Amino acid sequence: MKKIFIVFCVFIMNLSFSQQTKYVDFKRADGMLSIVLDSSMVKGTVWYNLDMIKSTDSIFLDAVNMTFENVEIRVGDSNTQKLDYFNTQNKIYFKYPFQKNQTYTIHLDYSVKPKQAMYFLKRENKPQVWTQGQGKYTSHWFPSLDDTNDKIIFNLSTTKESGYTFIANGLNTINSALDHNLEKVSYQMKKPMSSYLLALVYGKYNKKTETSKSGVPLEFYYYPEDSLKVEPTYRYSKRMFDFLEDDIGFAYPWQNYKQVPVHDFLYAGMENTSLTIFSDAFMVDNIGFNDKNYVSVNAHELAHQWFGNLVTAKSGEHHWLQEGFATYYSLLAERDIFGDNYFYHKLLESVLDLSQQDLSGNGTSLLDPKSSSLTFYQRGAWVLHVLKDKVGDVVFKQAVKNYLKKYQYSNVETSDFINEVENIYGKSLSGFVNYWIKNKAFPYDEAYTILKRQSTFINEYEMVDCEVNSSKCAEYLKYYVSDEAKAKVISQMPELVTTEVFNNSLKVRQAISEHVTKIPENLKSDYESLLDDKSYTTIENALYNLWVNFPLERSKYLSKTRKTIGFTDKNVRMLWIVLNLNTPYYDADNKQVLFDELKEYTSEKYNTDVRIKAFNYLDLMKSCTEECQSNLEKAKSHHNWRMVKFAKQLSEKLQQK
Ligand SMILES: [Zn+2]
Repeated sequence: MKKIFIVFCVFIMNLSFSQQTKYVDFKRADGMLSIVLDSSMVKGTVWYNLDMIKSTDSIFLDAVNMTFENVEIRVGDSNTQKLDYFNTQNKIYFKYPFQKNQTYTIHLDYSVKPKQAMYFLKRENKPQVWTQGQGKYTSHWFPSLDDTNDKIIFNLSTTKESGYTFIANGLNTINSALDHNLEKVSYQMKKPMSSYLLALVYGKYNKKTETSKSGVPLEFYYYPEDSLKVEPTYRYSKRMFDFLEDDIGFAYPWQNYKQVPVHDFLYAGMENTSLTIFSDAFMVDNIGFNDKNYVSVNAHELAHQWFGNLVTAKSGEHHWLQEGFATYYSLLAERDIFGDNYFYHKLLESVLDLSQQDLSGNGTSLLDPKSSSLTFYQRGAWVLHVLKDKVGDVVFKQAVKNYLKKYQYSNVETSDFINEVENIYGKSLSGFVNYWIKNKAFPYDEAYTILKRQSTFINEYEMVDCEVNSSKCAEYLKYYVSDEAKAKVISQMPELVTTEVFNNSLKVRQAISEHVTKIPENLKSDYESLLDDKSYTTIENALYNLWVNFPLERSKYLSKTRKTIGFTDKNVRMLWIVLNLNTPYYDADNKQVLFDELKEYTSEKYNTDVRIKAFNYLDLMKSCTEECQSNLEKAKSHHNWRMVKFAKQLSEKLQQK
């Protein structure tokens, strides 16, 4: 990430982030916060403990648009005294003759209305507050350090209304009732971390608790109304935790592991230390699990607890040490659950995406801080896969273990990791580093060759290709080839699908629902059986295709799917309403109610995904009128950039009409 800072007040000291870490080591921050939901504000009292490494006349904390009061300092164990300070838009500077090797405690009260990094969602009956520090800066809501290179123990507390849950990094140490329906809640960390990993969630939650094989408490949070989604959503959480602890060979470095879903999250998930926050779109029931489950995001954020949180990249140049490792270890955990074919298929997809990126001229060195996510995540994972193949499992694992042990709770760069591998491997890896890491071009031919050597599945998948060898294509659908290969044939030549092909797995049947859009009469009853599949994607596709292909049977299809909602984004329900509204003779008295329901889905009460779907359907029906347009207007100032972008584009389109 590129960081911007303004050189301010040179007469005091020309401190930039990297320089400040040479003078001062912030050790611990205790923050007592009060979250004011009505005015979207945080007020806090903070104590910072710090050690001086060199003497200086000023130090700073990053603090965006904050107001301060009662700024005080204590030198060692002496009495507290007023501390001279001034603040700019981005920082607070403390002026004091700080002495080398002396410890200090700084106290301050602050208040802020954060413009980003902390979000206040005020939905009726279920308000939620949550944070996102990476890429947004924690200093928007808590005075802290934008630099990742000074690691701090953060302990957050709050006073909250009972009935709400407050979750922060570390261990919940105090939970005591106060007067007036209020409770005090405190969290404490044992080990330090970079400021961007500081996080909190406030809202209405229940939780389910398990314990890892090694004894670490695992806490799975969920909305009270989502109890049926807990098992499928968190199905492999404990298994993956145990797997990663064992495979990485380094004990999980934090006190517990909590996972919390939130509305309209900015990303899929964020690995805040011991507190992963993820999008509630991943809360799935038993059927949704088969389509888009939380497993991969879950494993990715968990792997970051070691790679990113325990050892943190010194700068953007080494960002792959976080994303590449998290992506690769997530793949290993997923392989343990979904098998080898899944694993190699994912690696193959990465090779194809990376080669595409290179061909379009957008390839970069893995050490370019401006690289795409594809490069940081997928190329990073590939580097580890090839390195492991080159040096062998035993050397690779020992090196990773040594690397984590040596740099735990501190910061790293690429050479730190490579040196650990070289130490055990006994040979130089500079050729490898140049070719796989530093080079702009990704060696996709070599990557593909490695995959073909490692996996018979990949060889088969390559062979099964209707575009190359059409004569055998129909045969592939009859005999045993992998589900992935069958899905590939169906996508290339949907007309080859026969009754027998329906006797395949959920994934193959899903490919039928996606690619066989013109349904021959002789496949009608097989196709209708797709409406019973345990897949909301299949049901959505099949309902639409059947409705289009067999107009006389529309009532039958609508009656059959009447009660299906689908994913969190209500994919089946909304399609059902739209098809119903376009089937005049069916359910005729109910049309207005259904239309109102569809309009309602565009309102602020619902998640971005639900709203975008509803806006799109209404636009398609040329029915985005007053209420819909006023909701669209409001959506333009949403905190989620996807919502904003969508709302701006659609309203522009509507105005042109
Ligand atoms: Zn990540």
